[in-house]
Amino acid sequence: MDIRLQIAMVFHLDKCIGCHTCSIACKNVWTDRKGAEYMWWNNVETKPGTGYPTKWEDQEIYQGGWVKKGDTIALKSAGKISGMKNIFHNNNLPVLDDYYEPWTYKYSNLLEAPEGDDQPVAQSVSLVTGKPIDVKAGPNWDDDLGGSMDYARRDSNFKNLSESEQKVMFQLEKMAMFYLPRMCNHCLNPACVAACPSGALYKRGEDGIVLINQNKCRAWRMCVSGCPYKKSYYNWSAGKSEKCILCFPRLETGQTPACMHSCVGRIRYLGAMLYDADKIKEVASCDESEIVNKQLGIYLDPFDKEVIAAAKKNGIADSTIDAAQKSPVYRFIKEWKIALPLHPEYRTLPNLFYVPPLLPTMGSVNDAIYDSTTETLFGDVDDSRLPLKYLASLFSAGDTAKIREVLNKLMAVRMHRRDVTVGDEDKKQVAQLLEKAGINAETADAIFRLTSLPKVEDRFVIPDMHREEAIEMIENTGDAKGSIGFGFNSKT
Ligand code: SF4
Ligand code: SF4
Repeated sequence: MDIRLQIAMVFHLDKCIGCHTCSIACKNVWTDRKGAEYMWWNNVETKPGTGYPTKWEDQEIYQGGWVKKGDTIALKSAGKISGMKNIFHNNNLPVLDDYYEPWTYKYSNLLEAPEGDDQPVAQSVSLVTGKPIDVKAGPNWDDDLGGSMDYARRDSNFKNLSESEQKVMFQLEKMAMFYLPRMCNHCLNPACVAACPSGALYKRGEDGIVLINQNKCRAWRMCVSGCPYKKSYYNWSAGKSEKCILCFPRLETGQTPACMHSCVGRIRYLGAMLYDADKIKEVASCDESEIVNKQLGIYLDPFDKEVIAAAKKNGIADSTIDAAQKSPVYRFIKEWKIALPLHPEYRTLPNLFYVPPLLPTMGSVNDAIYDSTTETLFGDVDDSRLPLKYLASLFSAGDTAKIREVLNKLMAVRMHRRDVTVGDEDKKQVAQLLEKAGINAETADAIFRLTSLPKVEDRFVIPDMHREEAIEMIENTGDAKGSIGFGFNSKT
């Protein structure tokens, strides 16, 4: 057992209001610079939709992440050796149009226009060329299902839904949407690290944050194509790649990352997780049907005596173990099992987990009007407007049973709390729902409290940062084919 600390996160999607405050907070702090104008280290997408960059989930286009090869895995696009062969011609990069051409407005037109009969307008100007442009796309072009039929239909997650299922979903009265905030997942098996021929990307040993050494970056952009989440970006002005740094300078002073600090819906949780680094290869190369359970299995119980002893032996501080025991992330993903990784089938073992949206389920439509009686408003999760298959494509590598399991728990919490507060529920039915979901009233109350009434200190449990103990890192050597991008050095 090689126990490490990973800072991990949970986003609760039923709480996100799509305000984009997180994105703006991040932009103001980190990417309000030349060459970074188009970058949104944190962005919020509307689902269904094509996202940013457009169709980022379609790995047939972008060739990101890992694929299983026999009993191991290889990068879907270029590994280190094959990458070197094509280093001057990386076919799988998104182009500026896939993101959008960043622009500003010529505000001086408004201030300096001479008096006249017409209202002056602020012309749009490209932030790349400085020339006037017709704005054709933006990072949230399909926000709130704007242009829904065109954009939403192109969502890659529809590939497992039959045509008739899609047709039903796109009936105007059936349409449902939710917000998906995204940022770098600071993966346990980061494809960006494995793909970099210069060894510029690394994973910090003491907390698992994935960073790019700007001095080593040679602008090959293999991290951009390698990351299946498209969360590494190229700065066209600096000639270096950049990515989310999880606000480590803030974390090191005990502050939450800017996106989390500013989150209006309080959907974000951050905490410490202990995991077994010896298991990374085995988990990343398991069968797709097992990947969610195997990934969740890599995180260890911080209350287990053996785990504590092994962690201490590995140089993990008592304060870190204490933080892991108080981690809200541990409660969501391990104790209650209601948060899942985004696209686990990419095999990067992401450390950002999502509580999938339950929404009002509302499966029943009468004369094009939703029946809003309690039975249908909070009906069976199998009848929900968002098909389980769609959520399964996002959060469980296609396993609808896993999504049903999570949603049944969320539904049981909802009905239990209704029973507590409104008291008009059939108690026997509520008890049955709790039983079906495999939780008791006490757990339902605990889930409710951390979801709906958490204080700042409940949402964010930041371990003391132990730079002095930096266990040496993912070395970015990989094997000869660049097929496995992890491998820890011994301590220095
Ligand atoms: Fe972040 Fe993972 Fe993408 Fe690397 S592969 S940039 S760690 S999301
Ligand atoms: Fe959602 Fe929070 Fe971002 Fe607003 S700030 S869009 S609530 S994640």
